[in-house]
Amino acid sequence: LIQEHQTTQNIKLCVCVRKRPIFKKEEVGGEIDAISCSNPMIRVHEPKLKVDGITKYVENHDFQFDNTFSEVEQGKDIYDVSLAPLMDLLVNQGVVTCFAYGQTGSGKTYTMKSIQELLATDIYKLISTTPSYKIFVSFFEIYGGKCYDLLNNKAPLQILEDKNNNIQIQGLVEKPSESEHELFQLMELANSVRTTHATVANDTSSRSHSICQIAIRQGYSDIGKLILVDLAGSERAQDTQSNNRQRRLEGAEINKSLLALKECIRAMDSGQGHVPFRASKLTLVLRDSFTAKSNKSRIIMIACISPGSSSADHSLNTLRYADRLK
Ligand code: ADP
Ligand code: MG
Repeated sequence: LIQEHQTTQNIKLCVCVRKRPIFKKEEVGGEIDAISCSNPMIRVHEPKLKVDGITKYVENHDFQFDNTFSEVEQGKDIYDVSLAPLMDLLVNQGVVTCFAYGQTGSGKTYTMKSIQELLATDIYKLISTTPSYKIFVSFFEIYGGKCYDLLNNKAPLQILEDKNNNIQIQGLVEKPSESEHELFQLMELANSVRTTHATVANDTSSRSHSICQIAIRQGYSDIGKLILVDLAGSERAQDTQSNNRQRRLEGAEINKSLLALKECIRAMDSGQGHVPFRASKLTLVLRDSFTAKSNKSRIIMIACISPGSSSADHSLNTLRYADRLK
């Protein structure tokens, strides 16, 4: 029995899973769909070889989350239960952060793009009655532990901490946006800068985290902030075994940041103790997401899953990561 999706209204952390459809070319290549999804459950049918190497059997692994979305559901279905209910917070000192996690090819960027489009519309609806509210966008990536500005030709950026312990990204360009169309175009521009020159063999976008920040301001003060994070491919955290030194270092950095992210989300959600945001560059720049005052921060995690049987191992890793956030 498929249940209705749960909205984010009353929870600080909402963990969702999205399964993308299996592609024709994957099926032609002999892959079968190894994932069945029925909200709020998801099952991985992991293919196994017996010791004789011939007989195949399947091991099932079941998980439950706040929401699971099958291949027939659209970006709007996810948006409506996760981000849409939090729009009011964006004009009430809220910090809303949405992550896409998963292996390369699982649909992180696809999911983020549809969310960006829907957000651009809703943000301008939200502020339409208050002309003094202004929108500012910044968009950068973290690659190999360093920051680059996606709205300024990938200019390198320094992360600094000022005397009040505020984290500043020095030189980060912030573009004002005057309309829904302009906001969407800025996000499209940054998305395209991120993927230019990336070949399949040297795809930096799979090894970088991209961070889109939308601030709603009145005068000089933030009245709300929305952060969309398209994380590096989770399989890259295993590049620590690679023969290539550069890959190994990048893999170690990704591994460190994804582990730090898990710890920070757990600490933020439990509301107890110290949030170890200094453990990686990623969590350092996201400090506000974990530490906003008086219950104003909300985190949405969308774990993306490739359904093919050859991805079953990676899918299991993704689901275990998402499971441990709670
Ligand atoms: P990632 O960012 O995780 O590496 P992408 O978002 O680039 O993955 O998705 C990989 C491919 O799968 C792209 O061609 C994308 O258009 C397609 N895709 C991803 N999710 C879906 C979906 N839900 N429905 C249809 N196509 C999808
Ligand atoms: Mg991507």
